[in-house]
Amino acid sequence: MPEDKVNLLNLDRAGLEAFFAERGEKPFRATQVLKWIYQYGVDDFAGMTNLSKALRERLAEVAEIRAPEIVSEHRSDDGTIKWALRLDSGNHIETVFIPEDDRGTLCVSSQVGCALECSFCATARQGFNRNLTTAEIIGQLWAANRAMQVRPREERVITNVVLMGMGEPLLNFDNVVRAMNLMQEDNAYGLSKRRITLSTSGVIPALDRLREVSDVSLAVSLHAPDDALRNELVPLNRKYPIAELLAACRRYLGEEGSRRVTFEYVMLDGVNDSPEHARRLVKLMRQVPSKVNLIPFNPFAGSGYRTSPPERVEAFRQILMQAGIVTITRKTRGDDIDAACGQLAGRVQDRTRRTQRLQAEGRLAERLS
Ligand code: SAH
Repeated sequence: MPEDKVNLLNLDRAGLEAFFAERGEKPFRATQVLKWIYQYGVDDFAGMTNLSKALRERLAEVAEIRAPEIVSEHRSDDGTIKWALRLDSGNHIETVFIPEDDRGTLCVSSQVGCALECSFCATARQGFNRNLTTAEIIGQLWAANRAMQVRPREERVITNVVLMGMGEPLLNFDNVVRAMNLMQEDNAYGLSKRRITLSTSGVIPALDRLREVSDVSLAVSLHAPDDALRNELVPLNRKYPIAELLAACRRYLGEEGSRRVTFEYVMLDGVNDSPEHARRLVKLMRQVPSKVNLIPFNPFAGSGYRTSPPERVEAFRQILMQAGIVTITRKTRGDDIDAACGQLAGRVQDRTRRTQRLQAEGRLAERLS
């Protein structure tokens, strides 16, 4: 029965070694199979020619290599590509590839929808269905490479991964960590810790756990310089307020002097974008080795927010820069195909009744209903 098969995309190196050990095979089989799957993009055991025919046949009986299926592709004028991937009958997620001169970044989702209710984010409007499996997370890289017809080992078109798609990665801890292990694993994608960025709204206990098991780069969605405003924009702040979050960021960086946390700050017209907000942000940023990414708000129907005018963003940036804080205004990419930050909205079977509630309040946009 196909549903009984082990999907090997769910196993990192340790898991794959255990899988082979249980079947009386040597651990180096794990290395061979990792290479076939991730470096050659193979999903058929018959093609794994350095395994014996008997082993290939046995594997085909008990295991499979199954990534989420791409059901649509949109290409932006700026080269950004957005894919919708089908997970099961009711749920689709989105994954975005962003090419730049010196790198290619894949923006990966970690959950179907999101359980947090950040007020300015399109994904939040969709409610939440479930965590992605490891296979569904690492499968986004696998499927994107295949869709771009890339040989991951030789071409390395995807050089960076950001966990900044749909969902809160730290609320899907184990699967996200296992997928990040595969991104870093030499025999899989072999990306360095600096090329993988996990973005979080600030789930402090999970951030402390992450430090024990991983060393990827950290981005924190801050968006406000004080608790009153952040409570409104990122309701998770009521549980994990700014001072505690910054302390957790310092613990995450540890003693290693060269590392920094990237703080993301979405620029909302008339909400969090005044010079006074910038000055208060400076005081916070002095407490952690940091850099700041200003993200122009990407609008979506019914959001209730407007994008800060560019002069206001620039004035804000200048205040931070003059205080010695490295601050970049993010270029909006892929907005013509709704692939920009906060615009990802796959198809989510909402289990939180949020869509119904928002619909009742008349706050849900057409596109998302
Ligand atoms: N839940 C994680 C991962 C999502 S990352 C987190 O909060 O960090 C997505 C990034 O895009 C976050 O920084 C998020 O705050 C930002 N974002 C969300 N909606 C946005 C919008 N409409 N315009 C610009 N940025 C947005």
